[in-house]
Amino acid sequence: MRRAYIAGNWKMNLTPSEGAKYAASLAEAVKKEAPDCRVMIAPSFVSIPAVLNAVKGSDIIVAAQNMANHLSGAYTGEVSPEMLLDLGVRTVILGHSERRQYYGETDEIINSKVLLALSLKMDVVLCVGETLEERKSGRLEEVLKRQLEVGLKDVLPEEMEHITIAYEPVWAIGTGETATPEDADGAHSFIRFTVASLYSDDIAKNLIIQYGGSVKAGNVKALMAKENVDGALVGGASLTLEQFLPIITYSK
Ligand code: PEP
Repeated sequence: MRRAYIAGNWKMNLTPSEGAKYAASLAEAVKKEAPDCRVMIAPSFVSIPAVLNAVKGSDIIVAAQNMANHLSGAYTGEVSPEMLLDLGVRTVILGHSERRQYYGETDEIINSKVLLALSLKMDVVLCVGETLEERKSGRLEEVLKRQLEVGLKDVLPEEMEHITIAYEPVWAIGTGETATPEDADGAHSFIRFTVASLYSDDIAKNLIIQYGGSVKAGNVKALMAKENVDGALVGGASLTLEQFLPIITYSK
């Protein structure tokens, strides 16, 4: 049985004080509403300490949006996974399409981060997804297969319980365009099939696959109703309680 997992990626939004205020109200709402799903929020690095403090005592997972692929050293501007662990952050989003698109992160770089995070027993949300051009030219499966094969290279079967996959079609991120529930389910089913062929049916069956791309209160129910959609990675609509709360309580 896969437990639903809904995450909010704040991207480069909300200052530490704004983030802490919102996180405290979210923690309160989560306590009251007790959503059935696991709830995660990913603030910017500088907001993490204040947000951790604000959600103390709740079940909300506080994650990082990225991390370095080194433990320490001369990497100006980077944040080490050891620094995150020291704060109490045990979950990291890796391979987001904005990291791939704007910061040149290749599947190989992402894989080195995945392996480093797993070596430190961190949980990883690994993002995959095709561009509009790749989808239009019929390369959806080829792209997903490559991102999974390279992104998960050398990940051991026993480490797969620490991996969540987020399927995020690039054309649906922040655009208001959403994949139809059928499109999302089809892509998720292909991801599960690929993970089964790389690992085993059992590992694929237990894999949590989130959908990301303009998820909102109005479409979350239909997406989550699909057999292979186990959660959501939400950008824009995760930035306010008014928008995020109805998403995490979609099943109520
Ligand atoms: C995201 O940032 O992962 C995302 C899916 O953004 P949005 O929900 O705004 O499309």
